[in-house]
Amino acid sequence: MTLAIKAVGTQASDQQLGVMNIERRDLRPDDVQFNILYCGICHSDLHQVKNDFGASRYPMVPGHEIVGRVTAVGSAVTSFKVGDLAAVGCIVDSCGTCPACHRDLEMFCEGVEGTTLSYNSQDRVLGGITYGGFSQTYVCKEKYTLRVPENLDLAAAAPLLCAGITVYSPLKHWGAGAGKVVGIVGIGGLGHVAIRIAKAMGAHVVVFTTSPSKVEDAKRLGAHEAVLSTDPEQMKKFSSKIDILLDTVSASHDVNSYLNLLAIDGNLVLVGLPAKPLEIGAFNVVKGRRSFSGSNIGGIAETQEMLDFCAEHDIVADIELIRADQINEAFERLEKNDVRYRFVVDMSTLS
Ligand code: NAP
Ligand code: ZN
Repeated sequence: MTLAIKAVGTQASDQQLGVMNIERRDLRPDDVQFNILYCGICHSDLHQVKNDFGASRYPMVPGHEIVGRVTAVGSAVTSFKVGDLAAVGCIVDSCGTCPACHRDLEMFCEGVEGTTLSYNSQDRVLGGITYGGFSQTYVCKEKYTLRVPENLDLAAAAPLLCAGITVYSPLKHWGAGAGKVVGIVGIGGLGHVAIRIAKAMGAHVVVFTTSPSKVEDAKRLGAHEAVLSTDPEQMKKFSSKIDILLDTVSASHDVNSYLNLLAIDGNLVLVGLPAKPLEIGAFNVVKGRRSFSGSNIGGIAETQEMLDFCAEHDIVADIELIRADQINEAFERLEKNDVRYRFVVDMSTLS
């Protein structure tokens, strides 16, 4: 049995998004069902809609920064009740038994089916493809459903479900904190949240942006220093000074100029997903014993830890709240780097 609901999705990479009907599964004993209140728009949604990675499946309903209120719970659910806040990020299932899942790294699940993502994945229950948060409701296993602290602004907290965990996890893993200089490259949805999280962890935060207006805004966002990355003189000042550089840039760019900013044993962590391979000059990493690495979202337990950390430090995203019928316009603006700093869709406008 399934329930028909409304969603906003697309039929092909060259088509606009429009209202469509999709099915959600009926509750199973370990499921949580919730009405979606807000859903953020991540640049990954744009990559996926446009099939930048060549793995998109259609029809596609994007959206993986999902916050809502519980409307029903299965008979075996113990940690959610009707009326509670609930959230879903990128991960909605995994095998639960492989070494990665045992380490709470469900995003790297080694099971036969791998990680099931909130959309564009094989649906383990209904067959077909999973559909994301640009929709009226979601049904998710309790184990993969997150708790949103009540003190956070719900619309502004939605981007934490992807942008927040994607930057929190590498910052924590590589030891961002007091005495460390953290550089954030690219001040979009991920980057602006990263400034706040790195600062709350106690690091000295330096912003690298191609946008002059964001240099001016960086201090308000919490950065200690800001660099216009298109100005070689400003870049030179930070040569060999940065311990951890978090690169959130969504398009092709020269990572070598950033590798040269790393101190001895410094690490550039790529979280941005430019579709084409990046080139690295050997001398930019052998000098200073530098590392070039990457990170992919974060596990469920760490996502909950991040939400609680953000609640404790009063961290949410700066958002532009839009209606469901403005999603196409938002995608166009996101492509032009014209958002301060995350679009969030008020899903109650989809009726
Ligand atoms: P976003 O809001 O569009 O921000 C990307 C930022 O990159 C822009 O604000 C801009 O910052 C900079 N930028 C864009 N085009 C550029 C260019 N041609 N050259 C140099 N800088 C450029 O995107 P987002 O939602 O934060 O996502 C960022 C990237 O991370 C995307 O590729 C997304 O798919 C990826 N992502 C990865 C994960 C993961 O788990 N690894 C998770 C979520 C998202 P300035 O204006 O400051 O220069
Ligand atoms: Zn995302």
